[in-house]
Amino acid sequence: MLYFKACPKCLTGTVEHNTDPWSEYLQCLNCGLMRDVPDGQTAIEHLKQLHVQFKEQRAAEAAEEGAAVA
Ligand SMILES: [Zn+2]
Repeated sequence: MLYFKACPKCLTGTVEHNTDPWSEYLQCLNCGLMRDVPDGQTAIEHLKQLHVQFKEQRAAEAAEEGAAVA
């Protein structure tokens, strides 16, 4: 399963939903971001959660940069 332009990190990358005998994971074909899908969560639920996490991280980094400039 492929999610186009769905990468929470680089935003433009295509995220591939993969399973191997040990786990289920999401991998960005563009930047290489890789995350395991936790038990009890679907891939799309986890992808949404990652988007929230990365968005918060970017906001925190932007705030730090702003503080450094000011
Ligand atoms: Zn990416």
